[in-house]
Amino acid sequence: MSPELEKKLTNRFPFYTGELIRYGFPGDGWFQLLWDLSEDVEECLDRDPIEDFEVVQVKEKFGTLRYYVSHGRDDIYACIRRAEARSAKTCEECGEPGKTRPGGWILTLCDRCHEEREEERRQSWEEYKELQSKDPTKT
Ligand SMILES: [Zn+2]
Repeated sequence: MSPELEKKLTNRFPFYTGELIRYGFPGDGWFQLLWDLSEDVEECLDRDPIEDFEVVQVKEKFGTLRYYVSHGRDDIYACIRRAEARSAKTCEECGEPGKTRPGGWILTLCDRCHEEREEERRQSWEEYKELQSKDPTKT
């Protein structure tokens, strides 16, 4: 996720205390999902505050959102589970409806982003083969 979007989240919601998101998210597609989840969590805390509550880590794993909090509670876990389910159907690059794609690194992508990723993979494979064929130590 871009630093600008991360800042928007961390400025708005006090329970983001560190640089949590940047390294776990290649794309911006889950920003709205995270924003909605943050509002839900905030609502839970407004209803029934938890002292020193913070979000410890936010990342993508096996194509779905992982969201770790310092103090758990059933209502907050329920919000997190809903957001995790939503992430499995949301393109992590652009936010369009997507699905989880198998591969070396499992991602949730829409058809268009999936096609782009496949194309990039084909290209870098071609470049790799080209380099190999030019390598004098290989002949
Ligand atoms: Zn997409």
